Amino acid sequence: MDLYSGHINKLIEELSALPGIGSKSAQRLAFHLINMSQEKVNRLANVMIEAKANVRYCKECYTLTDKEICPVCANAKRNHKLIMVVENTRDLAAYEKTGRYEGIYHVLHGAISPMLGIGPGDIKLKELMERLQEDVEEVIIATNSSLEGETTAMYISKLIKPTGIRVTRIASGVPVGGDLEYIDEVTLLRALEGRVEL
Ligand code: ZN
Repeated sequence: MDLYSGHINKLIEELSALPGIGSKSAQRLAFHLINMSQEKVNRLANVMIEAKANVRYCKECYTLTDKEICPVCANAKRNHKLIMVVENTRDLAAYEKTGRYEGIYHVLHGAISPMLGIGPGDIKLKELMERLQEDVEEVIIATNSSLEGETTAMYISKLIKPTGIRVTRIASGVPVGGDLEYIDEVTLLRALEGRVEL
């Protein structure tokens, strides 16, 4: 495609490699960026560079944060004996938005997917088991209700069971295959309150 300048083509190529951006959206975004002021483009580029350079995993729960320990883990008022396992930082944010969960989290950064070749070693599962050496009363598995999320929940519950720690799974009613972050707060709270023993 040599309809555009080489620079624009390169920009379109990079943008279309992003998730959820098809070639049409990439073209629209590329032309939008070109039409933006130099100052705005610089600001956007700098925000991306700085986020990438400064965001890291929380040393305890592995969520993405600016500090060594995230605000949730650093909060002594939270119940540190109650750990909710989520697939990603966006799911954590969804539960935090309800303002009703008092425990802490563990972020897996993915789910087990034999089809995609993602195994237990590719997510933060070993890190979860290490955390369970400490005083933990309950682990709530809040992975998505997709096939991958269910597979991961089963796997984790089998690992934890022998330790004697209580393992629960958030109630279904969360739409199948639905990403947690898109579910409204009432549904999330209902899923949390109706959690079942595994
Ligand atoms: Zn944390």
